[in-house]
Amino acid sequence: MTIQQIGVLGAGIMGRGIAYASALGGYDTVLQDTRRSALDVARDEIVGLLDKGVSAGKVDANAAATAKGKLQTVDATEAAAAGSDLVIEAVPEDMRLKLEIFGTLDRAAPAHAVLASNTSSLSITEMAGATRRPRQVVGMHFFNPVHRMKLLEVVRALETSEETLAAAVAVGQRMGKECVTVRESPGFVTSRVNAMIGNEAFYMLQEGVASAPDIDKALKLGLNHPMGPFELVDLVGLDTRLSILRFLHRTLGEKFRPCPLLEQFVAAGRLGRKVGRGVYEYES
Ligand code: NAD
Repeated sequence: MTIQQIGVLGAGIMGRGIAYASALGGYDTVLQDTRRSALDVARDEIVGLLDKGVSAGKVDANAAATAKGKLQTVDATEAAAAGSDLVIEAVPEDMRLKLEIFGTLDRAAPAHAVLASNTSSLSITEMAGATRRPRQVVGMHFFNPVHRMKLLEVVRALETSEETLAAAVAVGQRMGKECVTVRESPGFVTSRVNAMIGNEAFYMLQEGVASAPDIDKALKLGLNHPMGPFELVDLVGLDTRLSILRFLHRTLGEKFRPCPLLEQFVAAGRLGRKVGRGVYEYES
């Protein structure tokens, strides 16, 4: 299958990054959001990233200029779907919204088009069920920030065809990503392991095994993790981490029971960097 045009739905943190990687990968890229302001911010950010990449010698000047010309923004789902060979949705993590969008995409995208979701945890099989083309539906799980993170988890839903998987992997590679293929399962590979490590770190803090800075230091210097588990959860958001753990606990069982100390931090409003305090305190 030849993919020339990619539609990206949602111009938030992830949609912007995916649109950047898509345009720089040489694809005609149509970025859509219901909020015009999000599209304006996204365009400025993408252009800024390309310019910064050129100044730092990481992005070729011609490739950056071409990428800028390949990016357009629209505000209707149908406009991003029409003419796209692949549509990747990165709208908020809400199944009802995703199901509605997959229904619209199924009606508006060309019959051959692949429909993908960037969800971190929700069922791709359920989204595929909202379409008449479940074999052409796949998960493409990018990481934040997309322009820096090398991995793409390609998620095979119950009925995803080999051709669809191969198309998603080929697109990922052209966007400069390393791909792993994962069978649909709660938390895929990355979110499941990450939640487990983060939860265990809270249990150790609760038991007084070591201080938060020492647990972070131990994992960074002893296990070569680029960030400590508490630095990372402050970035991700403690409420987001708690909701992932609750989902994994429900679906995968007791070993993912959220640590009571994490629940307490969330109840106290210590949600991480976004509110200025999580495990650590931040100056505004
Ligand atoms: P975000 O809140 O930053 O962005 C979502 C965007 O979608 C917003 O700009 C919003 O205006 C827009 N939107 C809302 N309804 C829409 C609609 N009907 N049509 C088009 N756009 C609409 O969210 P995000 O962090 O970019 O997350 C998006 C998806 O990516 C979620 O499924 C999330 O689970 C997943 N994800 C997030 C991360 C992360 O670190 N943030 C990492 C991997 C995957």
